[in-house]
Amino acid sequence: MSTILVFAEHGAGTVRRASLECIAAAKATGSDVVAIVTGQGATDAAESLGNHGASRVVCLTGADQYSPDATGVDIAAVACDLGVRGFLAAATSTGKDLAPRVAMHLDSVLFSDCTGLEAAGDSFKISRPWLAGKAIANCTSTGPVFCATTRLNSFATNEVGGTAEVSERPASTDGKVIVTGITAKEGGKLDVAEAPIVVSGGRGLKEPEGFKIIEDLAEALGNTAVGASRAVVDAGWRPHSEQVGQTGKVVSPGLYIAVGISGAIQHIAGMKTSGVIVAINKDPDAPIFKLADYGIVGDAFEVVPALTAAVKELMATA
Ligand SMILES: Cc1cc2nc3c(=O)[nH]c(=O)nc-3n(C[C@H](O)[C@H](O)[C@H](O)COP(=O)(O)OP(=O)(O)OC[C@H]3O[C@@H](n4cnc5c(N)ncnc54)[C@H](O)[C@@H]3O)c2cc1C
Repeated sequence: MSTILVFAEHGAGTVRRASLECIAAAKATGSDVVAIVTGQGATDAAESLGNHGASRVVCLTGADQYSPDATGVDIAAVACDLGVRGFLAAATSTGKDLAPRVAMHLDSVLFSDCTGLEAAGDSFKISRPWLAGKAIANCTSTGPVFCATTRLNSFATNEVGGTAEVSERPASTDGKVIVTGITAKEGGKLDVAEAPIVVSGGRGLKEPEGFKIIEDLAEALGNTAVGASRAVVDAGWRPHSEQVGQTGKVVSPGLYIAVGISGAIQHIAGMKTSGVIVAINKDPDAPIFKLADYGIVGDAFEVVPALTAAVKELMATA
């Protein structure tokens, strides 16, 4: 049986959902899955990782601060020791920084932002969006080991109820880059790239205050992030962290609601792989309707408050 090593991110022992998706993606290939964790609370993460399909958890211990280059060396060393066939990390900021380093040390290839992974005999088939999401590239990894990052929300997590065997390994402490701290800009807000539901607004909302209807809908739905088109980010209405698209974040939530967004190719590049897409636009010819599963032609300032009221009513009776 082949083994896939997965880098699992966590906060004080709570594993990020994106990493559990990675574990599920690896497990679905029929491989043995080994998770590797680092940082304070690494050992606490093991229970959840076992529950989601990791048979073993390797904890890198002893380093007070995270170093991407030292962690890359450590992961590659573990990958070699275990003779793994693949290495996966979620396509988060950390994963996108770390995975190329691991690939370099393993003299391997890197498939970035994958949306599909399956075993194919002795090799692995990997699919990933290309040309701003206009095409899907179906690739086969034929080398001894592949590295990949997985697009967030592209793989369902799976609780299998297992228990992982935990081992510790000293982390390298001679990194050239040390992350001394991470300052959250908007504390407590759900990241648009990770949220299961995203409600995005565009220039059709007329002014920054127009986003009140978007925020109200997001709050009514719950567990929902607010997104934005580049036009409104450039105008200073919303922070860049909310921008969806080619030069913003790539999102793939179960439900994406685009309000007052025309559907420019650069915006679509960032949300095309969402599960269900709903568009609300007063122009029936807006390009976003070509992509949408459901469309409402109407004024956002009439449609969205009505939708919010309906959601609240439903939630109250649920
Ligand atoms: C290199 C490059 C990179 C880019 N990267 C990105 C990116 O990452 N993300 C991104 O989003 N864009 C990006 N863009 C910009 C992109 O091309 C578009 O200009 C932008 O997406 C348009 O934003 P919008 O849909 O909010 O505005 P508009 O195109 O102006 O559309 C506004 C829409 O609102 C509708 N509307 C108006 N009033 C109402 C109302 N009352 N109710 C309902 N609907 C209404 C209109 O019918 C219209 O369809 C990029 C462009 C370039 C050149």
